[in-house]
Amino acid sequence: MEQKHKQEFALASATELSSSSASALTQSSPVFARFSARNGLVELRFSEQSEAIGGYNVDPCTAQLLKLGPVQSVCISKDSDTNEEKSYSRGITIQFRDEEESRAFHCAFEQWKTEVKDQDAVVRFAVYLFSNPLLLVCFPGTHLPNGDVSGSLKSKFDDKVEPSSAKMYFHYYGQLLHQQNMLQDYVRTGTYYAAVIENRADFIGRVVVDVGAGSGILSLFAAQAGAKHVYAVEASEMAEYARKLIAGNPSLGERITVIKGKVEEVELPEKADILISEPMGTLLVNERMLETYVIARDRFLVPMGKMFPSVGRIHMAPFSDEYLFVEIANKALFWQQQNYYGVDLTPLYGSAFHGYFSQPVVDAFDPRLLVAPAVSHVIDFKKTKEENLYEIDIPLKFISSVGTRVHGLACWFDVLFDGSTVQRWLTTAPGAPTTHWYQLRCVLSQPLYVMAGQEITGQLRMIAHSAQSYTIYLTLSVKMWGPGADQGGILQTSSCKLDLKEPYYRMSQPQPYVLTQDQQPHQLMHSQDIPIQADDLEEPELIQLQSQCSGAQLQ
Ligand code: SAH
Repeated sequence: MEQKHKQEFALASATELSSSSASALTQSSPVFARFSARNGLVELRFSEQSEAIGGYNVDPCTAQLLKLGPVQSVCISKDSDTNEEKSYSRGITIQFRDEEESRAFHCAFEQWKTEVKDQDAVVRFAVYLFSNPLLLVCFPGTHLPNGDVSGSLKSKFDDKVEPSSAKMYFHYYGQLLHQQNMLQDYVRTGTYYAAVIENRADFIGRVVVDVGAGSGILSLFAAQAGAKHVYAVEASEMAEYARKLIAGNPSLGERITVIKGKVEEVELPEKADILISEPMGTLLVNERMLETYVIARDRFLVPMGKMFPSVGRIHMAPFSDEYLFVEIANKALFWQQQNYYGVDLTPLYGSAFHGYFSQPVVDAFDPRLLVAPAVSHVIDFKKTKEENLYEIDIPLKFISSVGTRVHGLACWFDVLFDGSTVQRWLTTAPGAPTTHWYQLRCVLSQPLYVMAGQEITGQLRMIAHSAQSYTIYLTLSVKMWGPGADQGGILQTSSCKLDLKEPYYRMSQPQPYVLTQDQQPHQLMHSQDIPIQADDLEEPELIQLQSQCSGAQLQ
């Protein structure tokens, strides 16, 4: 069956340049550039009437489109009549009616260019220009009946992510309620807003790419801050809502183009001066979207371009929480029944026990549960390679402030907006205003006993998996302490394996952290106040944040 797809652009003019003469199609009669695909063969035709015979034909797969100016480009291609040696012997100068049309045409050209001539003659390509011609939505795949978007080429995203995981992931983000949940995290959204607006100087007149735009909120912020143009890239169905929201804010929307597709797959007509994104998941790395952010950097950002945010840090400290430990251990007690309707459940007790301890606990906790100053692992988004995020190894070393039972490792993160005018941290630290990320705790099924001043060592190893998350391996050890320590080795070691994809949400609503009378605000952890050293970025190993645990005491 013949399949046919078309996309048409009206142009101001198209002029063929040739060595002998220059012939032109001009606006005396309307000039059209028409992309079409027939049985997998892609063609671009410039002609005076949409269906006219004549004009110039170009194969976008071998042609190149170069920008001469904001509304002028040249399309160079092989002359079909000449031999290979004369390749790129044809040039067509294209005059667009405005910048927006130029952008849309370049975007379409790249998309048609990458179109694969499939043996099945299934043309997997669609570009939709919606009612508002300023809002271009393009993606390199077509909608299948089940609503999937199928790409024509296997991308870096498809290579590492299980299709079922990606489907659920984008289904989740395609729903307004989940975008609303993020928008209603005022610490998060307010910090992004402040970071963008306070740093207008970084946005005015600049080209911005919003990596994973969701509802389009950050694109609208960037436009408010004076961006020349924002490309809002979003893979889920939320792109349609973003288009609606942006169309409803026309003074900003005229400078925003929504591009529906995966960051790893879409083509943009120009490079970005700044990337803006909110790619952080639980423990910073969950969802593996930092990799997408880094890929966007390599694909779209000009050299030395800015990233908002530009740095992320994971902070970790041992904690003591008897209540939490007992709560988790007790969950498995159900399986200790020997007569459950006449059935002995105990054979499954061990598995259930391990199952509960393999879930990282997500909630907001009192920072006084921390028993040592935190250590940090820095990820520099501007420098790190995508592959560095596949396996993250963090050596741990703490000195316990108190004598207690250590029940595991508490983790949180922050990110830096390194604006030219204002530097701002978005923190998810315990004691700071709670965010929808809360904090995360890895609970050991075998707690460790420590004395004040005793050293706790260990390792946090996170290995990425194809379900867009990580397997976490945690080991904590307590060394011999006091006189004679040199003689002794490690006294106790406790390990656990957790799946970051399967957390135990211990709290369903954000809880305000309430100051108790004996606790002064200055005792709380505000990463915002901790200056970041240039060295920290060079050496993303361990940083002792002494000030972070000044209030750590046991109750
Ligand atoms: N920027 C919005 C949404 C953040 S949530 C805000 O700050 O409110 C992250 C968004 O990125 C989701 O909507 C998700 O669908 C999108 N996303 C994740 N990975 C992506 C990818 N590889 N390509 C395009 N969009 C992606």
